[in-house]
Amino acid sequence: MIFCPGTAVWVEHPELAWAEAEVVSLSSPSFIMVVLSSGVKAVVDGRKVLPRNTEADLGGVDDMTKLVYLHEPGVLCNLARRYTLNEIYTYTGHILIAVNPFAKLPHLYDMHMMEQYKGVQFGELSPHVFAIADASYRAMVSEGHSQSILVSGESGAGKTETTKLIMRYLTFVGGRATGDIRSVEQQVLESNPLLEAFGNARTVRNDNSSRFGKFVEIQFDKSGRISGAAVRTYLLERSRVVQISKSERNYHCFYQLCASEQVAGKYKLAHPKNFNYLNQSHTYELQGVSDADEYLKTRRAMDIVGICFADQEAIFRIVAAILHLGNIEFSPGKEFDSSAVKDAKSKFHLHMASDLLMVDVSLLLSTLCYRTIKTPEGNIIKAVDSSAAVVGRDTLAKTVYARLFDWLVDNINKSIGQDMESRAQIGVLDIYGFESFTYNSFEQLCINFANEKLQQHFNKHVFKMEQEEYKTEEISWSYIEFVDNQDILDLIEKKPIGIISLLDEACMLGKSTHETFAMKLFQNFRAHPRLEKPKLSKTDFCLSHFAGKVLYQTDLFLDKNRDYVIAEHQNLLCSSKCSFISGLFAWHQDDPSKSSYKFSSVASRFKQQLQALMETLSSTEPHYVRCVKPNSRNYPQKFENVSVLQQLRSGGVLEAIRISLAGYPTRRTYAEFIDRFGLLVPEHLMARVDEKSLTERILKKLSLENFQLGRTKVFLRAGQIAVLDSKRTEI
Ligand code: ATP
Ligand code: MG
Repeated sequence: MIFCPGTAVWVEHPELAWAEAEVVSLSSPSFIMVVLSSGVKAVVDGRKVLPRNTEADLGGVDDMTKLVYLHEPGVLCNLARRYTLNEIYTYTGHILIAVNPFAKLPHLYDMHMMEQYKGVQFGELSPHVFAIADASYRAMVSEGHSQSILVSGESGAGKTETTKLIMRYLTFVGGRATGDIRSVEQQVLESNPLLEAFGNARTVRNDNSSRFGKFVEIQFDKSGRISGAAVRTYLLERSRVVQISKSERNYHCFYQLCASEQVAGKYKLAHPKNFNYLNQSHTYELQGVSDADEYLKTRRAMDIVGICFADQEAIFRIVAAILHLGNIEFSPGKEFDSSAVKDAKSKFHLHMASDLLMVDVSLLLSTLCYRTIKTPEGNIIKAVDSSAAVVGRDTLAKTVYARLFDWLVDNINKSIGQDMESRAQIGVLDIYGFESFTYNSFEQLCINFANEKLQQHFNKHVFKMEQEEYKTEEISWSYIEFVDNQDILDLIEKKPIGIISLLDEACMLGKSTHETFAMKLFQNFRAHPRLEKPKLSKTDFCLSHFAGKVLYQTDLFLDKNRDYVIAEHQNLLCSSKCSFISGLFAWHQDDPSKSSYKFSSVASRFKQQLQALMETLSSTEPHYVRCVKPNSRNYPQKFENVSVLQQLRSGGVLEAIRISLAGYPTRRTYAEFIDRFGLLVPEHLMARVDEKSLTERILKKLSLENFQLGRTKVFLRAGQIAVLDSKRTEI
């Protein structure tokens, strides 16, 4: 494209991503002298310069597809402009982009607002998460077809808050308004604080970070009333129970219990600084949150969800037991390579843990300090050294906590109840977004794998929507293609050889290590375009995901992929006199004839869960909400271009735009088109021709090709609007 001096443009900028500039002169298409708005002059590559709209839209447009120039800087600038006006929602076609305000905007979500959006045609009111929820509800009621709302974004972008707003809206339009505190819709809503208490924690990115993925399916009856719900969760982060990094916290429930005065006293708990599982990070309080109040809210949520008093007591006894367990320290025992409980303080915690778990104290002690080894000649009981005892203790704590979390999810499902005759469902997905850190381990691989799956689903859908619009407008669309990410999905999940299969194989073979695993991986995929072997490491690998490259460190891959309950732990907990605790472990009791260390793969289970999720999603009509974190400090009114751009890229928003750019990104009704460009053919304006023919004359006069004239709109290829615009300004 040729830019004349004076043209308003966007140029790439290292800090701002894109900067506003104006063309000063051009020596060749590849070198253009521009002046930035700061007054600085620069020579830039003309092929990377993009046109900028200066006239209209200063307040931004509520749908990106209305932008005069639909490109990266246009999208970014539009979001930023709207954000300064507290317009946090913007559409890109049917996708809703939500920029986290990091400030309370109560009027935006009050009852009045819900009333306003109820039953209103999508797009008629300002973009809003209620509009998406309403559109899915209406579609579900009128067509009887299940819907899903997929909420994504990076940590702290606002997924969970958005999900809760969607659920609140759906219970508003689909509730029975009986005022019953234990109605299905109240139970659905109260499942949120309950799962948050046990599955959310403070991280460096978010004070209330969800450490699990969640898909809530709300079921509706024939008259569009909520009749049941099902919650599925994915990959709870277990390691947090025993290990927390600087500035982070363990799961909220631990602090809530410590703050709950009488109960804490009963279980001999005190300030969190006294417990190893809580004091590693020296972070105890959350700004603006009272853990004592939160404890009461969690108990209330348990009441509403239908957890009886005895079970509630047992749940918090387990939470307390885990804290005491973590305080049992070990010292070397009398015999070689053995261990013993370190001191009187540790003994106190040992007794407390056994009392609370209602297990025999000597059995707990031997479970921690000894191990049974199976040999062909029979079982051998062997002492373990103090560091192995610590590992065993932590494993026990993680196992108990994970089972407790699973129980809560199952209980919520049982208590709310499934409507087997439900006419249709609306599923809401709140799942971790793409992650790329300095250290990426097994969890990041699983998370990014999930994101690849969702991305594929998203691309197919966006592509389909484009095609549908072309079809209704009766224009040809056959040549549009998009890049599929099936190759990376195959690399990760294909059987018998893919990353997950190779990892499972390594976990099953006793002699494998992360080194042999990495070696096999590179042997099998020597020239795979998505896989790279970094020069400086033998065991790291790099994957080119749709959202960018991620370097994975494999050192803990094998350990993290192994999921089994150690037989001694199983026996100990099954022997509990508390039926709640023994019940947690009785369900899962493995066939005793099988090996006590039977391997079960975390990655393969996750893969199956994802498969089931994708099957559910593909039988629904999807709606997308992309949450964006405007800055990394969680400040209101601060918009950082580079990071937002990266999120738009990894959330597939730019991909959606790219797909639309591959077709006809600019579409205008004939009336709009003539209104703007009619003056290019003054000679025809008075002629008695219809708007469609007039549009064709304008385009032909400018020698534009490959445009399409639809039934009601003209469809232009990328860049054509810019040519029209430049002709218009020449007049
Ligand atoms: P994670 O992946 O860590 O779970 P998330 O995407 O679920 O992150 P949220 O917990 O939903 O992020 O949001 C983080 C914080 O941002 C909230 O605790 C809240 O303070 C703020 N926030 C998010 N959405 C909104 C909103 N619509 N209005 C006001 N504040 C919001
Ligand atoms: Mg969350």
